[in-house]
Amino acid sequence: MKLEMMNLPDEYLALEKDILPALSAVLKSGVYIQGEPVRLFEQELANFLNVKHVISCGNGTDALQIALMALDIKAGDEVIVPAFSYVAVAEVICLLGAKPVFVDVEPQYFQLDVAKVAQAINKSTKAIVPVHLYGQAGYLDELFALAEEHGLKVVEDCAQALGAKYLFKGESRFLGSLGSFGCTSFFPTKNLACFGDGGALFTNNDGLANKARMIANHGQPKKYQHDLLGVNSRLDSLQAAVLQVKLPKLQAYLQAKEYIAQQYLNLLQKTPGLVLPAVHPNAQHTWHQFTIKVKNGHRDALKTHLQEKGISSMVYYPQTIATQKAYQAFTGNFPISETLCAEVLSLPVHPLLSLQDIRYICTQIKNFF
Ligand SMILES: *Cc1c(COP(=O)(O)O)cnc(C)c1O
Repeated sequence: MKLEMMNLPDEYLALEKDILPALSAVLKSGVYIQGEPVRLFEQELANFLNVKHVISCGNGTDALQIALMALDIKAGDEVIVPAFSYVAVAEVICLLGAKPVFVDVEPQYFQLDVAKVAQAINKSTKAIVPVHLYGQAGYLDELFALAEEHGLKVVEDCAQALGAKYLFKGESRFLGSLGSFGCTSFFPTKNLACFGDGGALFTNNDGLANKARMIANHGQPKKYQHDLLGVNSRLDSLQAAVLQVKLPKLQAYLQAKEYIAQQYLNLLQKTPGLVLPAVHPNAQHTWHQFTIKVKNGHRDALKTHLQEKGISSMVYYPQTIATQKAYQAFTGNFPISETLCAEVLSLPVHPLLSLQDIRYICTQIKNFF
């Protein structure tokens, strides 16, 4: 028995008959960068998310950078980000010469702690970037109210939560459609994934959309006219063609993951020493990760036990960003994040797992305890 975190080859094979002709059509078109599939995919994703503009780009990290550039984040500015997260947004804030201000998360849903965000705001603060970690968001009404009160921009890092809805101010909306920008990644393991790097920004603001589109393409409103400092970050036509095939299947894909998550929640309930993931009352979860908390210092031993039984698991993330070598200038006190780094363990949650696989994994977890 070998159960991996994902099974990308088999997921591909299930779609091969649709994907190969789409790729072939692009190859025969001779237009490989920003061709027709890119334009169509942007429109299709905008329709799906109910946002006005989708601007595709090279990857999710670039999407965050382009969003912050379009919002004029520059040297001297501060941007608030979660301490317990993936590195991407902290990295691009630093590249722009601005300062990432790490704020602790809350322990239940792993999202920014809004009370601690409030304490971190000062006159240099320009924006907040909530990361919808593991596939859901939380406390967004509170966070956006705080941002509004202080005149701050919100950029959503939606890389793990594309396709999730959220009850925002009483209205059901897709994540990524709420902030000045939503940013996502089409990295091969994400909810909506291509076969290489890819990313996109979403916005309902015409001016920001225009600016982001120019920045992503060397600051050009048209060829060889450079009005803004930009970057070269474009989605290629082959990846867009793959994404066009996959987008109509996203909802079914997320439903399949929901089913698996429900099996876990059911089979693992009341296991002593283990805390199951919870869904924020206003959130829909896409289960990008199914992440349990293992108490009493047993996390690494459980991971080893599962490995011995042929079950992969992963620690997202073993360290807070501020303790990483490249970011050690940014000190702070993040007790919840530190605890999570020692307790979290993500289990396989891909749609090709059978009920029998899930039962096997849960039995092995229970045996351990
Ligand atoms: C994957 C990811 C990114 C970066 O996306 P890339 O396409 O790999 O650049 C950013 N933020 C989060 C939370 C992610 O999970």
